[in-house]
Amino acid sequence: MELITILNRCHRFRGFVYQHAHFGADKKSIEVAVRPRNGSAAVCSRCHLPAPGYDQLAERRFEFIPLWGFLVFLLYTMRRVNCRRCGIVAVEEVPWGDGKRTLTKAYVLFLAPWARRLSWKETAEAFRTSWDKVFDAVEHVVTFGLEHRVLGQIDAIGVDEIQYARGHKYLTLVYQIDLDVTRLLWVGRERTIESFRGFFTVIGDELASKIVFVCSDMWEPYLRVIREKCSEALHILDRFHIVAKMNKALDEIRAGESRRIASEGGVPVLKKSRWLLLKREENLKTEQRFRLRDLLRYNLKTVRAYLLKEAFQQLWDYNSPAWAGKFFDDWCRQVMRSRIEPMKKIARSLRQHRELILNYFRAQKLLSSGVVEGLNNKAKVTMRKSYGFRTFRCLELALYHSLGKLPEPESTHDFF
Ligand SMILES: [Zn+2]
Repeated sequence: MELITILNRCHRFRGFVYQHAHFGADKKSIEVAVRPRNGSAAVCSRCHLPAPGYDQLAERRFEFIPLWGFLVFLLYTMRRVNCRRCGIVAVEEVPWGDGKRTLTKAYVLFLAPWARRLSWKETAEAFRTSWDKVFDAVEHVVTFGLEHRVLGQIDAIGVDEIQYARGHKYLTLVYQIDLDVTRLLWVGRERTIESFRGFFTVIGDELASKIVFVCSDMWEPYLRVIREKCSEALHILDRFHIVAKMNKALDEIRAGESRRIASEGGVPVLKKSRWLLLKREENLKTEQRFRLRDLLRYNLKTVRAYLLKEAFQQLWDYNSPAWAGKFFDDWCRQVMRSRIEPMKKIARSLRQHRELILNYFRAQKLLSSGVVEGLNNKAKVTMRKSYGFRTFRCLELALYHSLGKLPEPESTHDFF
């Protein structure tokens, strides 16, 4: 069986024929010559209709899916057409590629899913191609996906911020968190009012007005846009963000106190205690649990803050918003008497957003909780895998690619 026979089976196009296949000069690649079928006219790349020929350009190499350790290229001499409809001389359209890319469409569709499983760098290495070409492949499928996705009705959204570029910059991510669909809908630069408004521009007022639930953290610009664009929706402050905030405060207290003990030459009881205090107790190993109990005997600010944080967790067990509210108020009062400034700061901020927090109970069982946290973790994994992308564009593409659940261009053959 010849290579041409296989190509005709999996990658055949009307109007073109495979002439012959031969090794490239380096013997490491296979080159397949392609030519127009006799008598078939070139197609104008602007109006997509046949047009009379004008001249030919230099031969181009289109990168195809590698085979058994050989790179494979299709060689083709592009024609130009003199299109009367468009009134210009244009390059012809070829069905296996496009005017700009050197990758064939088949190779783009082959590489893109790999770039979701592996990092872009690993994908390039695995298939002996360049990082830029993997970027190209992802850009192609993401652009197609965004143009062809159907938004449909959106019941619930979650908005979240994520840090990148060594923590100096932020992205705003908007997820759809309906019970049956969770996906990334939008990526915006920064975490400003303008960036979040950009999402509403994309979906339009009609879809926005039908959103029933919005989940967010306490970031004021987000709260403001939600009030402005989704005034009818039930706005919920996400549990995961509140816990994250509390953990951050606790960590601050622990670090400060640990430094103070060290500078006073005391026993470093807080050493290596970070994860003991930040993890939920049920997630600790037996040995860690003993160490935690040991630590809790000390009269330290850190310990008191830890106990307050743990006590707060009970809030989530309530079903009734009224009882949850009562517990919430008691907890805030207790914290305000604690003389631990970072915790007091949190209590003040929670009090300010009391209604939004209690909305969690009003919406309970209608919104899958923890879904924003799950998506946030996936986004972080994607960013970690994409170590080396420094630009917003790369991150945007990588995030849409892994979390957007975008439709993909169809292919007549599955090159698995
Ligand atoms: Zn035309």
